[in-house]
Amino acid sequence: MIDSPLLGSRSGFIGGRWDSGHSSARFEVVNPANGAILAELPLMSRDDAARSVQAAFEVLGSPISLERRRELLLALVDQIRKEREEIGRIITLENGKPLAEACAEADYAAGFYQYAADHLDRLTPRRLEENPRGHEWTVYARPAGVAGLITPWNFPFAMIAKKLAASLAAGAPAVIKPAEKTPLAMIALFTLLERIGMPSGLANLVFGDASAIGSVLCTDPRVRVVSFTGSTRVGRILLEQSAPHFKRLALELGGNAPFVVFADADLGLAAEHLVQNKLRAGGQTCVCANRLLVERSVADRFEQELVSRLEPLRVGDGMEPGVAVGPMIDRAGYEKVGQHLEDAVAGGARLTYQGRVPVGDDSDDAAETMSRDWGWYFPPTVLRHALPTMLCAREETFGPLFPIFEFESEAEALEMSNDTEYGLAAYLFTGDPRRAERMIERLHYGHVGWNSGTGPTPEAPFGGMGHSGFGREGGVEGLMDFVEFQTVARSPS
Ligand code: NAD
Repeated sequence: MIDSPLLGSRSGFIGGRWDSGHSSARFEVVNPANGAILAELPLMSRDDAARSVQAAFEVLGSPISLERRRELLLALVDQIRKEREEIGRIITLENGKPLAEACAEADYAAGFYQYAADHLDRLTPRRLEENPRGHEWTVYARPAGVAGLITPWNFPFAMIAKKLAASLAAGAPAVIKPAEKTPLAMIALFTLLERIGMPSGLANLVFGDASAIGSVLCTDPRVRVVSFTGSTRVGRILLEQSAPHFKRLALELGGNAPFVVFADADLGLAAEHLVQNKLRAGGQTCVCANRLLVERSVADRFEQELVSRLEPLRVGDGMEPGVAVGPMIDRAGYEKVGQHLEDAVAGGARLTYQGRVPVGDDSDDAAETMSRDWGWYFPPTVLRHALPTMLCAREETFGPLFPIFEFESEAEALEMSNDTEYGLAAYLFTGDPRRAERMIERLHYGHVGWNSGTGPTPEAPFGGMGHSGFGREGGVEGLMDFVEFQTVARSPS
């Protein structure tokens, strides 16, 4: 069991109180590195979700001033910065990512609260300069209503920051449902929210029965916005459930990112960025490169640059110093990567490099150790001659597989890049600025890295196109997600 000053309570949080709900059923939170049980938490239900919505709804009766919202956001930033190491430790234990990465996730999360505090003046009432019809016009940004916020396990502390920063800024009370695989970082966040004296009901926490809680958030008329980050499959369920209730939705869904390398690119730089991009969270991020599209004439050289950077990397328990790649979140995640690898090899791709996983004895047989029952470690694995018909081209692999596809021309690279229903992130490496401009304008992706594998940042709007969802988080655009504009026309008489 995990021991932490940030986990004094092991329950949800409703109406300003720690609350375990009414059911006696419980679920386990497991360390993916070794199978250790970290905590047993109450399996909260539909009723608990409905009570959370009620607690949140009551807040709307006493609007919270912009100044108070700013104070809360800044106090939260202070707390996160103070507790970054402990937050990082909790993230690593429940998610598996290396500790340095987990601490960086805490910093990244703090950036969203800071950005919202710094740009809150965007939500102050705005007097129109014109006076149409001889009236005085003012536009108010009102809280849109109760917000339902549902988050995934791959960034247990950062994904909620994108949503909660914007809902707090808007003064919209929230009901939060984290992934059941990683609820501990969220409990830690609520410990911090309690410390800063958050008004009761402004944020509520409920977890357990995901589909029951989700259906309350999608159907209760008091919830006006549902903001979800997770798979396209679940996004579609929420879209269907919410449609009859005219809710506003923000859906941050899956991706299938192309990483395009032209012969005129700096191949070393491209390989460096690829490794950083692809191995964050062990390849389990929505923005990580899924398809490596490399111009045929440089494919051998690019592969060498890539492999030379993968060879020194250690796979293992994220709590151990020097580990660069942690375990997959669970057996299903591990098996999906294996299935993509097998499918590609069966279809004619060639496995050219595979790293090693931790072994416990002196054996260096990765295949043998990969079959044990805990710690689903998948080593970085490189494939050549991957084809667009393979599973690794059609679906998000969500693991450290590096399939190299080859192309001959710019037109082919563009066509292959856009050959997916997803549209979250794409990366382009070329030394030719005109080619970059042509390609970027035609890439159907919400986020594009040019000679860079960098992902989102608090200062910029981030989100998908197509089946990767809609809505934007971060930047000034993200601050508008939880407000409803009310226009008041006042007659001078
Ligand atoms: P998931 O869709 O399985 O789960 C996400 C959340 O939805 C969890 O809290 C889960 O409990 C909840 N959920 C599951 N079924 C539900 C239902 N019927 N009703 C309501 N809620 C339900 O996704 P995951 O496996 O946790 O996360 C991985 C996915 O998230 C990947 O596809 C990844 O690309 C995507 N993701 C997207 C972004 C982005 O910004 N676009 C960021 C991170 C992850």
